[in-house]
Amino acid sequence: MTLLTERPHSPGSSSADVELIGLAKRYGGTVAVDNLSLTVPAGEFVALLGPSGCGKSTTLRILAGLEQPDQGQVRLSGTDVTGVPAHRRDIHTVFQSYALFPHLNVADNIAFPLRQRGVPRAEIRSRVADALALVHLPAVGNQAVAGLSGGQQQRIALARAIVDRPGVLLLDEPLSALDRGLRQAMQVELRLLQQDLGITTVLVTHDQEEALSLADRIVIMADGKVEQLGTAEQVYDHPASLFVARFVGEQNEISGDSDGQGRVDHPAVMVAADRTIEAGPAIALIRPEHVRVSDDIAGAAGVNSIDGIVRGVSIAGISSAVLVHCRGLNLLARIPRDGRTLPRVGDQIRCSWDPAHVRMFPTPGGES
Ligand code: ADP
Repeated sequence: MTLLTERPHSPGSSSADVELIGLAKRYGGTVAVDNLSLTVPAGEFVALLGPSGCGKSTTLRILAGLEQPDQGQVRLSGTDVTGVPAHRRDIHTVFQSYALFPHLNVADNIAFPLRQRGVPRAEIRSRVADALALVHLPAVGNQAVAGLSGGQQQRIALARAIVDRPGVLLLDEPLSALDRGLRQAMQVELRLLQQDLGITTVLVTHDQEEALSLADRIVIMADGKVEQLGTAEQVYDHPASLFVARFVGEQNEISGDSDGQGRVDHPAVMVAADRTIEAGPAIALIRPEHVRVSDDIAGAAGVNSIDGIVRGVSIAGISSAVLVHCRGLNLLARIPRDGRTLPRVGDQIRCSWDPAHVRMFPTPGGES
């Protein structure tokens, strides 16, 4: 846990902007972080998202001061803090494991950082009460930590993190120990709290739904590098690379030859996009929600359309998933559950999509 003695800021200090400049970190032969640069303006909520082992936690630990980079700089509000120990940085971290003190009651846990700084008792009392109110647990101050549920304990950890109003709040998979319903409720609360307080926040998660719904901007990481930095819409609708397109959301992949004019030719279908990529082996991607299905199969299927047979239909929350086998291709269509008639297994149907919804990328070396 971060110790909070000698904190350099005063209570109520404003949120800080964060700059990571050319960070690199190796563990033996493993490159954990590879020349990573990132700027987070004050008050912004950024999520680091990527597969396990891509360097998210190492980046967060370097930012927190729990790890030293081999190269690069960490700046908070323009000041180089690279060599400054964790407890002297204006940063607090909430971990998945809560890291609460079991022998202290709730109020004493939250008060801990304030006591370390010698804040007067009366002020501690009122600020602990404020923090408990912010996390919607106003009445548990005198209770033992061990008697609280996982969700409540995580709220207490959050209250302790914000009671001293740090300039930067770091969240390391803070909700992943909670079950799905509670996690979603906590996501909403966390977002509202972050907006109310305006604390610069960096979240590490491997849960894309969490990143897309919570953060102002998302950093998609792979192999210690930033693959894309953008809003949820940008990374979902305009993935900068095949890696991002595959990692965020679902997609149908159609491999073929790009003609350099915005078309990818697969033996079963010609896919056309509204933009071009270089000629050569390529992969066209169409998200399932952009695949239309129709039982009108009169006339020949043309560009961006293909006939097939329904192989499976399943209901998944607000949409239905329709799996269609089309001349050697399996296409997944997601159809909103808005009362329309669904196709049935065995039906002959036509799948089609708009050029605007097609993304194309050159086939990476090693894939064929
Ligand atoms: P993520 O948080 O995205 O899962 P990490 O930052 O934890 O990724 O790890 C990045 C890479 O660095 C991984 O290959 C991991 O095994 C390695 N790594 C992280 N911490 C250590 C460590 N303390 N010692 C050795 N290797 C480590």
